[in-house]
Amino acid sequence: MRKIPVLLFLVVALLSVSCALPRGMLRAESTPLDFEEKALLALIQELRSQCPLRAKLAISIGEIKTAAWGWTRWNEKLDRFEIRIDHRQSMRDILDILIHEWAHAMVWDASEGAEFRGHGPLWGVAYARCYRAKLAVMNELVDDDDDDADDDGD
Ligand SMILES: [Zn+2]
Repeated sequence: MRKIPVLLFLVVALLSVSCALPRGMLRAESTPLDFEEKALLALIQELRSQCPLRAKLAISIGEIKTAAWGWTRWNEKLDRFEIRIDHRQSMRDILDILIHEWAHAMVWDASEGAEFRGHGPLWGVAYARCYRAKLAVMNELVDDDDDDADDDGD
């Protein structure tokens, strides 16, 4: 779990800065990203392009004092959405929580705050789009991994 704070910083930077910095500049350590870290960063990029939000968004992974695995809120002061994901979750669950919460932000963004909470039809449609983004990312990463395995075998 020690790598989470570093990753958390990356995620916030990626979303708060309007132009994405080169990935190498964002990483505090020069260690290669593992599969799940790659998946999280790739998923955020995919969501940004396939499920865009007009407003800014900051994602953090940290402590949640309730039983919730994640939450989404609008921060009036900072004029941005905030998604928090509980740090005790596995990275695979974090990906699932992220698309769930991102869908809440999409509904809020599209309805300009008229609809925010709950998991009604609008949220369902938004979630389906987020889920497709996740599938695309996972398929691509698995393909990349297979390619690497082939290279090693040659
Ligand atoms: Zn929800």
